Amino acid sequence: MFTKILIANRGEIACRVAATARRMGIKTVAVYSEADANARHVAVCDEAVLIGPAAAKDSYLCGDKIIAVAKATGAQAIHPGYGFLSENAEFAEACAEAGLVFIGPPASAMRAMGSKSAAKQLMEKANVPLVPGYHGDQQDADFLHGEADRIGYPVLLKASAGGGGKGMRVVENSAQFKDALASCKREAISSFGDDKVLAEKYLQRPRHIEIQVFADTLGNCIYLFERDCSVQRRHQKVLEEAPAPGMPAERRAAMGEAAVAAARAVGYVGAGTVEFIANQDGSFYFMEMNTRLQVEHPVTEMITGTDLVEWQLRVAAGEPLPKQQHELAINGHAIEARIYAENPEKGFLPSIGTLRHLGTPDAVAFELGGAGVTPAAVRIDSGVREGDAISPFYDPMIAKLIVWGADRKQALARMAQALSQYQIVGLASNIAFLKRLVEGQAFATADLDTGLIERNHDTLFPPAQPVPAGALALAAAALLAGEARAAAPASANPADPWSHTTGWRLNQSYARKLAFSDEHAAYDTYVSYRANDWLFSAGAAAPQILSLTARDGGDYRIKLGDSATHGTVLRDDDVFHVFANGAHHQLAWNDPMAHAGETESEGGRLTAPMPGKVVAVLAAKGQEVKKGEALVIMEAMKMEHTIAAPYDGVVDDILYSVGDQVADGAPLLAFKAA
Ligand code: ADP
Ligand code: ADP
Ligand code: MG
Repeated sequence: MFTKILIANRGEIACRVAATARRMGIKTVAVYSEADANARHVAVCDEAVLIGPAAAKDSYLCGDKIIAVAKATGAQAIHPGYGFLSENAEFAEACAEAGLVFIGPPASAMRAMGSKSAAKQLMEKANVPLVPGYHGDQQDADFLHGEADRIGYPVLLKASAGGGGKGMRVVENSAQFKDALASCKREAISSFGDDKVLAEKYLQRPRHIEIQVFADTLGNCIYLFERDCSVQRRHQKVLEEAPAPGMPAERRAAMGEAAVAAARAVGYVGAGTVEFIANQDGSFYFMEMNTRLQVEHPVTEMITGTDLVEWQLRVAAGEPLPKQQHELAINGHAIEARIYAENPEKGFLPSIGTLRHLGTPDAVAFELGGAGVTPAAVRIDSGVREGDAISPFYDPMIAKLIVWGADRKQALARMAQALSQYQIVGLASNIAFLKRLVEGQAFATADLDTGLIERNHDTLFPPAQPVPAGALALAAAALLAGEARAAAPASANPADPWSHTTGWRLNQSYARKLAFSDEHAAYDTYVSYRANDWLFSAGAAAPQILSLTARDGGDYRIKLGDSATHGTVLRDDDVFHVFANGAHHQLAWNDPMAHAGETESEGGRLTAPMPGKVVAVLAAKGQEVKKGEALVIMEAMKMEHTIAAPYDGVVDDILYSVGDQVADGAPLLAFKAA
């Protein structure tokens, strides 16, 4: 076995690999970019070496620099994680040439599966079922258009070199084809450096079911059952679970054997995933093979009691697979939720910023491997800590929340509970959305298909509900207690009327107004001070006695009238973040003493939603445009964002051109209503 490995990645997966290495007594070397100098993966490894600037192409994608670090630090092998260099055959070869073990499949297997089109040609020969489509080399636009017409709409265009849900376009009809092809090719070249595409039938209500395979260098190849990853947004996984609900044993075996056949067809070694797209009737087709450890590998670990990273290390060191097919069995049910820094309400737009507060559910450390391991109920794989930033340079995933239950129902309940304990302040996250998703009827009853989120849009994106009085009272109590502490830090009683700084204490009948607001509504609340508590009312409601019964850091227990409420309240400038009853309310306090008349309108400017690059300018100065018409396309965080006209109007000025870098919030063009 190796005594030292280099981890050529960042974030949660680098930390995940390091944890197993440490358990096995293997030393770890981290590499990091300038943006990651204080990152968690640097802290958890034994050594860390700076390899370049923030942009991945100057750091995490620089195979030669990484190999040089491995040589210099005496690492014997390189674990590439997922993303970055994990599916790069040239890098695997360069490792071998440098006398280093690449912890992954042989370069030839990566090449064979690296192009979705070439892989499909190969699978066709191995009699693995494929979705009807064109996956040949001809790339002429008219030819592809003809193929799409022949396949019949809707058609899905895919970047052959694509991944991570990027480089895909659904084409509803022949008239849309040309624009979709251009946009798909543009994203393909910018994300993957290769604009080759394939076209296939876009299946209706399919499920994404994938098989974890594992092969060693001695000719053994097995499958570790399936994962259902049907719950997706923008063709990217949101929830993953194992086993797949409703999977009959015979189909499980058939899919497992098809996956093993696919792996064997390319001489596979190590961990790999064969992805299938399945119809509701159970018929399934090969989609692609991911020649690496998958983001969602933990759910397989939880139900099989294995440590797949340990298996990777053993196989890479030439050992046989730790288990044979007949020794594997499914134990219980596991679900993973990807916690992303993103804004579901705004089309899942990534959010960047600092994790000013990060509160996680109690996770019991999950000890993988070993004999007779009981899976932990809650596992968190994370690469960030409180105070860390989610930058625009890398994937905006904050953490993976994984739960295990004796059955799906228990796993679901634990997931809902864990999500309600997750607290994030500083950037937008998908936590509330995930909670609605796992509690919603469709997921709870396993009515799964890749369109689940869109199909249930109305229940997943309910109209904003008014903030409950209990949450407003928590914010008010935190505000008042904070003032009392500021005035008299030693005061034993935070509600002590003599310890606050404002002048109302002498006049009991005078109620002080505390004006809060969130994105949707304004909430005027009123407090009057009493000897040991307050009188509190929200809006026109009758005043009730509010008292602070206990406080521990940001955790408050209050009593409002007859009901006791508790929650976490974190103050961030004038915004009170209230976490209570599984909800996160962001209440801005309109402090009458502060910034009087500071607000200024944005005027008619359309601004960049995040830092990025302008990839297309579709409107000209002076042009009249209709509401919804695309004006500028930006690329940020490996995705395209279209900036569209908010209403009918005229483009007054265009402030950037193609190729320009723009800062977050920068005005892109001046626009005037018609
Ligand atoms: P999985 O099927 O395991 O979810 P994905 O295809 O979604 O895998 O990608 C895994 C990870 O790799 C994601 O975090 C994604 O952002 C990242 N990724 C995928 N393709 C690329 C790429 N070309 N460059 C950098 N990162 C990528
Ligand atoms: P990536 O490399 O980005 O993971 P995949 O080929 O694995 O790309 O496809 C990603 C997702 O796109 C699938 O999980 C599925 O939701 C959807 N998808 C792919 N092919 C089809 C298809 N032919 N019909 C319907 N949906 C599809
Ligand atoms: Mg895929």
